[in-house]
Amino acid sequence: MPNCDTSGNLILKVAVPVPLDRLFDYLPPFGVNVSELQAGVRVLVPFGKRQQVGILLAVADNSSVRMDKLKPATAVLDTQPLLADTDIQLLRWASRYYHHPIGEVLAAAFPVALRQGRPALLQHQPCFGLSPQGRLVSPEQLRRAPKQQALLALLQSTGSAMTAAALSAYKPALKALLDKGLVTAHESAPGGGLAVTKTALPANPDQQAAIDAVIANLGHFAVSLLEGVTGSGKTEVYMQIIAEVLAQGKQVLVLLPEISLTPQLEQRFLKRFAVNLVSTHSKLTDNQRLHAWLSMQQGHAAIMLGTRSALFTPMPRPGLIILDEEHDSSFKQQEGFRFSARDVAIARAKGLGIPVLLGSATPSLESMANVAQHRYQLLHLPNRAGNATAPSFQLLDIRNKRMQAGLSEPLLAEIQATLAKKQQALIFLNRRGYAPVQICHGCGWVSRCRRCDANLVIHAADRLLRCHHCGSEQSLLKQCPACKTGELQALGLGTERIEQTLASLFPDKVVVRLDRDTTQRKGSLEQYLEQIHDGGVNIILGTQMLAKGHHFPGVTLVAILDIDSGLFSIDYHGSERLAQLIVQVAGRAGRADQPGKVVLQTRHPQHPLLETLLSKGYRAFAQSALQERRQAGLPPFGHQALLRVQAGKAEEPQQFLQAVCRKISELNPGKVQVLGPVTAPMARRAGLFRYQLLLQSPQRKELHQLLDNLLPAIYALKEAKKVRWSLDVDPVDLY
Ligand code: ADP
Ligand code: ZN
Ligand code: ZN
Repeated sequence: MPNCDTSGNLILKVAVPVPLDRLFDYLPPFGVNVSELQAGVRVLVPFGKRQQVGILLAVADNSSVRMDKLKPATAVLDTQPLLADTDIQLLRWASRYYHHPIGEVLAAAFPVALRQGRPALLQHQPCFGLSPQGRLVSPEQLRRAPKQQALLALLQSTGSAMTAAALSAYKPALKALLDKGLVTAHESAPGGGLAVTKTALPANPDQQAAIDAVIANLGHFAVSLLEGVTGSGKTEVYMQIIAEVLAQGKQVLVLLPEISLTPQLEQRFLKRFAVNLVSTHSKLTDNQRLHAWLSMQQGHAAIMLGTRSALFTPMPRPGLIILDEEHDSSFKQQEGFRFSARDVAIARAKGLGIPVLLGSATPSLESMANVAQHRYQLLHLPNRAGNATAPSFQLLDIRNKRMQAGLSEPLLAEIQATLAKKQQALIFLNRRGYAPVQICHGCGWVSRCRRCDANLVIHAADRLLRCHHCGSEQSLLKQCPACKTGELQALGLGTERIEQTLASLFPDKVVVRLDRDTTQRKGSLEQYLEQIHDGGVNIILGTQMLAKGHHFPGVTLVAILDIDSGLFSIDYHGSERLAQLIVQVAGRAGRADQPGKVVLQTRHPQHPLLETLLSKGYRAFAQSALQERRQAGLPPFGHQALLRVQAGKAEEPQQFLQAVCRKISELNPGKVQVLGPVTAPMARRAGLFRYQLLLQSPQRKELHQLLDNLLPAIYALKEAKKVRWSLDVDPVDLY
């Protein structure tokens, strides 16, 4: 029934968070004056048997649904729009670009509390500040209680009250200081002064050039890439630019890849800026995230720090977006609405007419290519700030070398020498658990996951075999389930095993392991980091968590144990990731006044990636990697979309993808390459069979034209009902 006459009735066009890429029509709720309704308010609507919170996007005078079939919306939840027109435009663009349903894309812009329909009311948050006595006491007097000492010092250095969210790492200490009367709680006015900044460090000439360049861009759209080795003072550059944005009365959004980095940066910012600063990430409560979002959206907060989803937070006075560690793949959402926070940040800044600053020691190849094509402005900090010098590299050829649980003798000697000088050693292995597999010495049986194409990893402390892909667990076996007689052995290395080895080799030293298993408990990572900073740790061991932006000033030796698996990755992103990882981990060494040394154990010392990276540096690596991508037509010189599909029976995804291929051959203008269908690199996961189809084109436009036509056809396929499929535009992970 197309466009029935609705005789003057007005229809609400509502985006509802369901996996259907369209708006839904409703009659206005009874008694609501439609002429006062604005796009961007939330409306509660009946949907199927449930009530859903949707977003009003338009009021129209016609509907494609028959009038008598239209239901009235239940209620309008907001008097003022929560999203501005620019926000809605951006989200509509993102929905089209990523070919993801508009209702789900819009929902991604809101914190959970608002998605659930809670009122958009900025509640006063309890704040904690120093009592008159607390201002006078020297933190030194609390040295027996290091946490309390640190908290007191923090509050004294920031000089302003802080919210419970900002102090979440200090809960017990906070209570103790409250009991001692050094800290008092009060309700915060959700305002807070703007732009009172404390003294900055005198910038060095490279920093100053970067600061000036970005400040010159304030007020219009531009993308700058700040390429600066670790410790070169990028954060200092951010802070001095932010000071200028704040002085202009504008707001700043700072995006970070990792939750664990937010508290660190938050504290550095709080020491510098006496403004209302909010942060948002998944470890905060729904209430705290609601508060942060509304503070920004209503203009009370001047700075927001957050992980990828913070990108969509509305800002009435936008001034600048910063993306730190822009190369990090966690900026790409890997499920649902698979957006790239980096790419969407640039689109957002363009729409808002503000600059974006991307920062990294190891910029993504995409950003390097954009610099080469003069789309981004390159700002370079080639040297470490202060006195620190760049670390030196050493490749340790471990072919035929005697090893003790993955540690070669020359490496052990290096560790020994470092510890003897009372310096810290950092050991990196990108595999958690005790060993990646349990194997039978008698018959060769290996511990496989029943639901995935993957081995079960030994977690010795928990006495478990655990699948890192689906989470299945079983207790560690004592007897081979196949031959019943063979001896079961742990094959390969994980961080847990290295920790044991190190503890037995260096019994009087303190070893701290940082990986997902040891840092799950809230606040535990912060505790370890503090312990490391206080010098109470001799050896730091961990996974890629170590590569991410942490400062370890006492570390002078960095050892990277197993890089060889990364050299032969089947995903073409593998070499870029490995190079970034090596440089990032290496960047943890010798940040203060001691020079650092980086040791890489490898069986492929002549591998071109290692040769280029270590002798010529990251830029040279990036150039040669871009050259290879250009020749192969791979991104950023080609454009890709990956259609992933999974189902309980192997033939269902196959039939689905064959049907998709038939549609493509009807629709394809001919230039989009179709690669597949093939089984996914992990062919089975959590009991489901997985297949994929890769679409690739030298022209972005052609690829997107095909997708525009293809997606409605896919939704309509009968084969689509039996499978779970998803489209990943610009995939960064082909698994
Ligand atoms: P990055 O963010 O690039 O890793 P940071 O901004 O954290 O670098 O700076 C690294 C260290 O150098 C910090 O301890 C910082 O205080 C110091 N630093 C930065 N800029 C300067 C400067 N201009 N003068 C002296 N020290 C500086
Ligand atoms: Zn056996
Ligand atoms: Zn599994």
